[in-house]
Amino acid sequence: MDRMDRIWGAPPWRRENAAARQLKASAWPEVAVIGGGLTGASAAYHLARRGLRTILLEAGSLGDGASGRTGGLALEGVAAGVIEGASDCLSTLAAIVREERIECGLSLPGCWEIAHRGEGVELPWHDEGGRLRILRTVAGGTVDPAALLFGLLRAALRAGAEVYERTPVLRIATRPAPALEVPGAMINPGAVVVAANAWIGELMPPVRARMRSALTFACATERLGPDALIAIGLESGLPFYTVDTPYLWGRTTADGQAIFGSGLVYGAAARLARIDVGAGEAKLALDRLEARVRGLNPALAQIRVAARWAGPIGITDDLVPILCRMPGAPETLIAGGYSGHGVAMSVKAGRMAAAAIAEGVALPAWGAP
Ligand SMILES: Cc1cc2nc3c(=O)[nH]c(=O)nc-3n(C[C@H](O)[C@H](O)[C@H](O)COP(=O)(O)OP(=O)(O)OC[C@H]3O[C@@H](n4cnc5c(N)ncnc54)[C@H](O)[C@@H]3O)c2cc1C
Repeated sequence: MDRMDRIWGAPPWRRENAAARQLKASAWPEVAVIGGGLTGASAAYHLARRGLRTILLEAGSLGDGASGRTGGLALEGVAAGVIEGASDCLSTLAAIVREERIECGLSLPGCWEIAHRGEGVELPWHDEGGRLRILRTVAGGTVDPAALLFGLLRAALRAGAEVYERTPVLRIATRPAPALEVPGAMINPGAVVVAANAWIGELMPPVRARMRSALTFACATERLGPDALIAIGLESGLPFYTVDTPYLWGRTTADGQAIFGSGLVYGAAARLARIDVGAGEAKLALDRLEARVRGLNPALAQIRVAARWAGPIGITDDLVPILCRMPGAPETLIAGGYSGHGVAMSVKAGRMAAAAIAEGVALPAWGAP
């Protein structure tokens, strides 16, 4: 079992050992991408397709961060809503999946926005002393996030990118030109994409004022039969998230598991990376989530919970991601901090970063420190 799975728990998504080579000190990339999640994989794919010599550096295993542990709700826009520059995330994602024939179960039938208050169709779910209601159905759906991630990584490798696992970037110097320190070597790429999500603040301290890191939590039930899915109102397969608090999101998987998520533990990324979900505040958060799920509907009361896990997110002060060039160091780009709303946006952000580097397309400058 992977080290992070031992302390953060193992999600139901099957991660792979993608081809990862021993870093060659002679490698002199035009672009280095830091982080082997969806942002980094998308950036590496789009850069390599544009003919740029690209390397991707992942500190641990590919998918170790949020992308291998996410719920996989594919949503439009960013956590703050659909804003300029983030209006076609789902069509961007669908086009790449189609073009690269990535088998990741992407399905976009819509997503319920649900709430404890307001007018809407009642779900058979009791939460916080009342019934949860469907307020509306918005654009969205679900994807197997690990299948998407490894499909993107394979496409990046096919396009000529080099991908290295267990290669942490220890330090970035941004001026006069980008220089990256990795164990035993210095790399001097022409440009850098910092796609390290919850760890961005560790590498780029000026970002810390805008983004906090946190662990968030999820659990998956055993497979439910059709009757149980009907009893809990999830037979349509639409995912959902609350638009009020206490927050709850969820979905079903292709083989009938129900996944629910909620809860946050804040901290510096280095501390979060040591938190064990089997003890302390993380265990409490998962116990609370599990008790809440069991209380939603009698059909869930005695259910076996097949998996419990945590994953890291970066939450910005205005819920708009960070997608910008570093002020005074324009060859260093930052993409991340999706505030728990990054499955589709991260893929789009990777593409935008690649277009900025290869073609000089302007970035929105969201959250420039
Ligand atoms: C439990 C959970 C549920 C979620 N559910 C949803 C959802 O349903 N829908 C949705 O839209 N969003 C959801 N999110 C958020 C979404 O998953 C993320 O926004 C998205 O995956 C971020 O991708 P990323 O590539 O930017 O970051 P990550 O996947 O976190 O990748 C960053 C990578 O950088 C690596 N790294 C860090 N530091 C270094 C370094 N110094 N050197 C090299 N590599 C480094 C890390 O190891 C990591 O692999 C969820 C997140 C979690 C944790």
